[in-house]
Amino acid sequence: MTTINPKITPIYQSSVFKFQDLDELDEYFADTTSRYLYSRNGNPNSDELAEAVNQLEGGAGAVATSSGMAAIFAAVLAYCQAGDHVLCAADIYGGSAALLNAELSRLGITTTYVPFEQLYALEQYVQPTTRLLLAETISNPLLRVADLRRLAAHCHALGLKLVVDNTFASPVLTKPLLLGADISLHSVTKYVSGHSDVTAGVTVAADAEVAARLKQIGVFYGLTLSPMESWLAVRGLKTLRLRMREHSHNALAVARLLLGHPAVREVYYPGLPTHEQHALALEQGGGLCGGMLSFKLADDKEVVSRFMRRSRRFPFAPSLAGVDSSLSYPLGTSHRALTAEQQQALGITTGLVRLSVGIEPAEELLADLQQALDV
Ligand SMILES: *Cc1c(COP(=O)(O)O)cnc(C)c1O
Repeated sequence: MTTINPKITPIYQSSVFKFQDLDELDEYFADTTSRYLYSRNGNPNSDELAEAVNQLEGGAGAVATSSGMAAIFAAVLAYCQAGDHVLCAADIYGGSAALLNAELSRLGITTTYVPFEQLYALEQYVQPTTRLLLAETISNPLLRVADLRRLAAHCHALGLKLVVDNTFASPVLTKPLLLGADISLHSVTKYVSGHSDVTAGVTVAADAEVAARLKQIGVFYGLTLSPMESWLAVRGLKTLRLRMREHSHNALAVARLLLGHPAVREVYYPGLPTHEQHALALEQGGGLCGGMLSFKLADDKEVVSRFMRRSRRFPFAPSLAGVDSSLSYPLGTSHRALTAEQQQALGITTGLVRLSVGIEPAEELLADLQQALDV
């Protein structure tokens, strides 16, 4: 028989796996890692993705999920049940807030939002039933950076778990579990896969028991990821380190250009010395600050629309972290559902534009932005 030794894991596009006899079935139930049974319970491709991110994050185990939202859902359910209370950073992905407000509330899990300035003074928000704090390493859309080591110590002193959405940083910049977080999770849709062609997530636990619980939640709720998506994400992950370097270098060049342009009122990028958490960002990111930035034009819809129409290299596509640059408009997309007061409190104004800076040649991006901004 021909020996086949593929260098790359093939796509196991099979929903189920065969058993020769009852002995094999018993073997499986004696050790469920010994073989595969059914792809919702485990598949070589989704396991490869979970293990690769687990290794990068320095975790005790991980589960690959069908989206970033599923990853957040699994993380909250790992620690919470009906009657429990969650703290959530006010600067949070809109979908996370929607999940907590519209769905987890129906399961009896309540949420209190904590302003960024209060993240290290959680005492006033803690209730006897508070289980965890959900926060992002680098927030959306104002790119505020949380001091994860400090936050983990603060949470643990109060008996809370720290769950970190590490999507914007990626494990190349920051490894939350090594700084004390209990769970680190990603929308794999973004940097981890990196090519805007996959919807997926991953949740990694520092503790093996929590990892097992995550795995069970994935299987029982059916949150697990398909073989094809897993395979694409694994392929993307192989260049994550290279991509994050380029994203970061390009974003810094773009941020500097914007900072010097008369049409730009403000620039939010952790790599700029003007950023409030610049020193922390450099330290926590190993010198890299990622590819996401936001800036303010005049608070005039026509000014924003004109910039969108003129830009060629930054199409308006409300996602992020692909190798190709794009832009998004927080007020009209991710933060559309908030009240005007909430938008105001978070600094989400009419002129606020978010860029996801890709890995194209920097000079091409700069030239494009220059012509799109010039009148
Ligand atoms: C996109 C995103 C999510 C949700 O991920 P999906 O893959 O779209 O489900 C969660 N957190 C952050 C920070 C994100 O950017």
